[in-house]
Amino acid sequence: MKVSIVDLNNFSRYPTLSIGYFVAILRKEGIDVEVCSPLNFGVHGYPRTVKQPYWKRFSEFLNYWMAVSRASLVRRIRDTIKNWYRPGGNSDQIRITEAVEALIADTPDVLLISAYTMYHDICKNIGHLCSKKGIPVVVGGSGFYIAETCREWLETCGITAVYSGEPEQHFIELISALAKEGDFENIPGVITRNKPFNTAQPLTQLDSPPFPDFSDFPWKNYPNKIIPIMTGRGCEWGLCTFCSDVKTTSGRTFRSRDLTPVLSEIQTQQQRYQANLFVFLDLKLNSNVTLWRGLASGLSKLEKPIKWTASVHVDSRNENGLSFHDLKKASDSGLVRITCGLESGSESVLRHMAKGVKLSRMSKFIEDAHRAEISVRITCMIGYPNETAKDVLETVNFLRKHRNQIERVTLNRFANMPKTPIESKLREAEKEYPHIAVKELDISNGIIPYENRRMSSTAFLGAAYQLISEVNTINRKPLLEKAKEFEGAF
Ligand code: SF4
Repeated sequence: MKVSIVDLNNFSRYPTLSIGYFVAILRKEGIDVEVCSPLNFGVHGYPRTVKQPYWKRFSEFLNYWMAVSRASLVRRIRDTIKNWYRPGGNSDQIRITEAVEALIADTPDVLLISAYTMYHDICKNIGHLCSKKGIPVVVGGSGFYIAETCREWLETCGITAVYSGEPEQHFIELISALAKEGDFENIPGVITRNKPFNTAQPLTQLDSPPFPDFSDFPWKNYPNKIIPIMTGRGCEWGLCTFCSDVKTTSGRTFRSRDLTPVLSEIQTQQQRYQANLFVFLDLKLNSNVTLWRGLASGLSKLEKPIKWTASVHVDSRNENGLSFHDLKKASDSGLVRITCGLESGSESVLRHMAKGVKLSRMSKFIEDAHRAEISVRITCMIGYPNETAKDVLETVNFLRKHRNQIERVTLNRFANMPKTPIESKLREAEKEYPHIAVKELDISNGIIPYENRRMSSTAFLGAAYQLISEVNTINRKPLLEKAKEFEGAF
């Protein structure tokens, strides 16, 4: 039996973790598998925030202004430009379609696609190619948690089924049934034209799949070898009103692995790939404080030291594992870069977001992480529904106060994601947000567009420019020398 997997994710700095798991599960069962990674065919990746030139503040502001402009012509021009350059846009389509044509020349028994929903057009082409050869195609990924999206994708010619949820526990059963033309429709998480939307239950035994196999990824096309790893799925907090990560397939409910297999996986991957750079992809690595602390102790005893990076949440628990002592121990074990979500420097906005963060504690964390010689990256948001120009200026002040301790800021515009608490609130409590008009679900991009009239007011535009300028000032700095290998990775 032969299975081909097409990886339509945007990880330009390291392999896709879920694909590594699928490959390992298939190979353990003796199934022949081939991976198609677009990086191998000249499709360029999309790195996270990197060092910026000074002029970037102007282009970023122009982009912001075009996005919030009330003139529909301006927004249309922006959408056209964006469509050309976005992942999976026009420039990627030809290359990926040609690569898949070569991949299916040997007619695999099953073709799997792991994709973000923005790759719909490319998947249409792939479905068309596979239907001509009678190859069953299953598409899955974190965006397939909304019934409307799954329905739309099933209308695409050549897509046999869409998968929603974590597939590991049903994976072999699904592949065997598809390859042998057996009954696959009763498998949890499978959605077809005949079977309604459903989602597979979250995997509870996280240590049951074998360690991920990344041997099929085009290592020569990455700037360096960074190995992805996850110690848990979901987030211990899980309450932020805007967060779709805890609503999508692998983020539902918090589950954690044991420390011993995590350390063993790191040593195995070190040996397999001769690599010493690791990125922990947990939404919040300090969710399980015992594991987080154990990791710092365990990693400092490794025969071959590693460098690592992770995301944490500066929450309000008495013990959140982020004291100076904890951070110093993590730094001594190789933690060179840490990411956390500030989102806003306004207590009022943070309360509305249910972020579970106090600014005084966030300040202390940033100072301690910097003192422990860890490169600090922050994510910020602009345009949360209750945010005013004054709130934006409070974020500017917070960043300015910590300008010397933060090395990168990723600034996002508020995205209204389906099934999040704020999305329901915007629909159900319209009177609370008279400045916001919510539109219909954009099925291709998996978001619900909105127009926030406040964001295009003169006061808000002025505050946005100040925020973008402050972010640019921080992002122009070089990274801490020891963290440079992770530039753009996280
Ligand atoms: S802490 Fe992070 S992952 Fe957890 S709910 Fe909030 S935004 Fe989502």
